[in-house]
Amino acid sequence: MASVFTKIVNGEIPSYKVAESELCYAFLDINPLALGHTLVIPKKEVDYILDLDDELYLELMRFSKQVGKAIEMVVDCKRIGITVIGLEVPHAHVHLIPINQLNDMNFAKPKLNLTTNELEELASEIAIAFAKD
Ligand code: AMP
Repeated sequence: MASVFTKIVNGEIPSYKVAESELCYAFLDINPLALGHTLVIPKKEVDYILDLDDELYLELMRFSKQVGKAIEMVVDCKRIGITVIGLEVPHAHVHLIPINQLNDMNFAKPKLNLTTNELEELASEIAIAFAKD
């Protein structure tokens, strides 16, 4: 069965899209640790990031860098934290999280409760910053 992220890429379920390239897709995490918490995935469904072929792995990282720069333009933060966990959704993804301190990367923390409007607005601001870059 297709992963939830493949369904997002195929437009079968909605997402707060931030950007896409030929091979990758970026969208807001629906249970964000911080404003602007974004997931970047390869469009091809591969569960474990270390199983990506080198070319796709490098493209995922290149694209994540570009998306991270766009998030920085929109969200006030010291840095964009970059991490891969992948215990919940079996489709490789990079977490891009605006951070100011170490604990901002703590996945055990309660998540933010953002409204649909807030998520739509954030995604659109990041998408605009991405397109300008
Ligand atoms: P993990 O696989 O442990 O890296 O966690 C999966 C992440 O995907 C979590 O942060 C979820 O909030 C996020 N997530 C799960 N389903 C969706 C979805 N439909 N849209 C956006 N983010 C999602």
